[in-house]
Amino acid sequence: MRAVITGGAGFLGSHLCERLLAEGWEVLALDNLVTGAESNVSHLLANPRFRITRADVTRYIDVPGPVDYVLHFASPASPVDYLKMPIPTLKVGALGTHNALGLALAQKAKFLLASTSECYGDPEVSPQPEEYWGHVNPIGPRGVYDEAKRYAEAMTMAYHRFHGVDTRIVRIFNTYGPRMRLNDGRALPNFVYQALRGEPLTVYGDGKQTRSFCYVSDLVDGIYRLMQSGEHLPVNIGNPQEITILEFAERIRSCFSHAPPIVFKPLPQDDPKRRCPDISKARRLLNWDPAVGLDEGLRLTLDYFKKQFSAGAKTG
Ligand code: NAD
Ligand code: UDP
Repeated sequence: MRAVITGGAGFLGSHLCERLLAEGWEVLALDNLVTGAESNVSHLLANPRFRITRADVTRYIDVPGPVDYVLHFASPASPVDYLKMPIPTLKVGALGTHNALGLALAQKAKFLLASTSECYGDPEVSPQPEEYWGHVNPIGPRGVYDEAKRYAEAMTMAYHRFHGVDTRIVRIFNTYGPRMRLNDGRALPNFVYQALRGEPLTVYGDGKQTRSFCYVSDLVDGIYRLMQSGEHLPVNIGNPQEITILEFAERIRSCFSHAPPIVFKPLPQDDPKRRCPDISKARRLLNWDPAVGLDEGLRLTLDYFKKQFSAGAKTG
């Protein structure tokens, strides 16, 4: 089986490459490296079943040879990244998804879209089930990401209904783990980077907004199960353990002997107040449940970040 993974050099894409290789697949990663890095997959290069090609998937995607699965993960994902790159974000969600679906259609391959809990916007319902249509501000700063992903879902369903492409949609909730960029601006790397530099942890707003953090191996396992399933409608994958951002900052702070202080900064516009996945569908259809708790996940992630930080300090 041969998979094409767009965004394969990113945080999630690299873990997915690793998992598919471990399952015996051949993997071609396509990435333009706007937010990813070749170092995320350098340990896979010795495997003859793995290849990475530099490509911008908003342009025509040319993949010689047969393809069995296209997994479309290319897109900036951190709010800081997509606010810096609003138009590339809209383009990769729209044109990139169209091209990736076109590749799947031409190759008679299956297709999986990496969608997001941001499709629910600032939700009025919690936890969020897949049937909820969301509460999104299309013209706010986050609209570039949210609407790109909502369009990508609509395009995926259209290719399924109109062209008969065998598609899947995963709505990913906040996921963390090794190979996130220390400076990507998301809450976890930001807090850790600040703590490592001996700076205060910046909590936005009053910190009462919630998120639910899923460890990357759990997410990848859910995605792998979804790939094998016959479900075409969206499936939430995330950890339903909900925590306020202030509690989360305190948990990270307590992992450091010097316990840096917490400071409060303004809340970004349209920052969702609550986010928690209803995962009954994944439990029922995929027999999936997250296995890694926050303590263990944080320990594994902090080990990685500490190594990255000291390697960076040594090389200047
Ligand atoms: P990431 O930024 O680490 O990875 C995205 C990858 O896509 C990067 O390697 C980047 O270089 C690549 N890319 C971006 N535009 C491209 C283009 N035009 N052509 C080719 N490559 C391009 O982010 P991530 O956290 O690994 O997210 C991966 C996917 O999962 C994204 O689609 C994101 O929307 C989705 N997602 C992630 C989370 C999460 O918590 N990590 C949550 C919801 C959804
Ligand atoms: N956040 C924070 N301090 C930071 C970075 C983020 O308080 O230094 C908050 C942010 O406002 C949001 C939550 O943490 O409420 C999660 O933010 P993140 O950027 O990780 O992703 P989001 O879930 O908003 O897409």
